[in-house]
Amino acid sequence: MARNLDTDSAGPRTLAIHAGERPDPATGASSPNIVMSSTFVTERPEGFSARELTEDSPFVYTRWANPTVRGLEEKVAALEGAESAAAFASGMAAAHAILLAELSSGDRLVLSDVSYAGIAELARDTLPRMGVEVVTVNMSDLAAVEAAVTKGTRLVFIDTPCNPLMRLTDIAAVARIAHAAGARLAIDSTFASPVATRPLEFGADYVMHSATKYLGGHGDAVGGVVCGRAELIRPLVSEAIVHFGGVMSPFNAWLIARGAATLPIRMRAHEETAMAVAKWLEADPRIARVVYPGLPSHPQHDLARRQMRNFSGMMTFRVRGGEAEGAEAAARMAARLKVIHHAVSLGHHRTLVCWMPTASLLETSFRLTGAGADAYRDWAGEGVFRLSIGLEDAADLIRDLDAVL
Ligand SMILES: *Cc1c(COP(=O)(O)O)cnc(C)c1O
Repeated sequence: MARNLDTDSAGPRTLAIHAGERPDPATGASSPNIVMSSTFVTERPEGFSARELTEDSPFVYTRWANPTVRGLEEKVAALEGAESAAAFASGMAAAHAILLAELSSGDRLVLSDVSYAGIAELARDTLPRMGVEVVTVNMSDLAAVEAAVTKGTRLVFIDTPCNPLMRLTDIAAVARIAHAAGARLAIDSTFASPVATRPLEFGADYVMHSATKYLGGHGDAVGGVVCGRAELIRPLVSEAIVHFGGVMSPFNAWLIARGAATLPIRMRAHEETAMAVAKWLEADPRIARVVYPGLPSHPQHDLARRQMRNFSGMMTFRVRGGEAEGAEAAARMAARLKVIHHAVSLGHHRTLVCWMPTASLLETSFRLTGAGADAYRDWAGEGVFRLSIGLEDAADLIRDLDAVL
């Protein structure tokens, strides 16, 4: 009953469903079982060192490897066109795995000056304690990137589209700059998903996802994944999973794999509805600006077309006025939205909106002043609403927004 999918020729919809899955040899079950077992009965004694672990090792203990988690890793690797993948307890566990596997005392990390707040804070507050030099730069400014990526730079870490601005980074251009300096490039591709962008094809060395978002897609499981060449993923597994212990639960792997099966068709629907809502918002006099990569008004729309096969369901918009008007609109949303949830997170089948005031984010998460803060305000003014379009009917989302703007 063994079936081997040809992952080189299969299309993304087929891969999303079948990669990493096979009918159960004992029962013929078509849908994968969940293997919750923490330990596995072995025929011969196994070594206890993580260094002895390879992809072909038999299952011994779930913190080392688990069949259900392995299935998810194979599915995401196939979607990213990667040789290998490792799953983690959360997106933050995935990000920290790349940072700690690559960086040692004396190394330089060049990080986007606007990124997921957890990664910005980890890089700024924790890594310097370990002797890592952390430099942040506006990754849409290639001259600034070139100046920041000096010899001694070990890792360049970017996210595109970046949270929360929806500003893009040219992955191929930054890969050339990083590699010329002898550094590796990691991409947080959570906002894009592998349906929109496969960063390894543009020269990235690592691609990571918060699987909590589009990959899982239903807001019911926290997880993270890193993909790349097997020689880079293997040390991530032996250090970050086996020793730091940020292992994904098999139950979460099963939920996320079930969600990932519909990723390509969900992304199509997210994009279609996002385009309708973005156009409606852009035409509304109460709205000062909409930033959506799929709109011709996005300042990097040409790069979006080159780098994104799908514009995703993520956008930001601003109401007219300053921070006070934004905060008032946020209060109306929290009290009166009927369909859309006023909540953080993104990439779910439910539409989510949250208010991100500029002054407090610049101070707490990004600590940006001067030109960096000015560039941030160019995109976000005194605050944006981050809108993650779900899978509901566009007309219902528009009616919901119309009533609270
Ligand atoms: C949510 C998110 C993370 C962190 O992922 P968790 O699963 O919440 O740990 C990292 N990067 C981006 C872009 C995210 O949206």
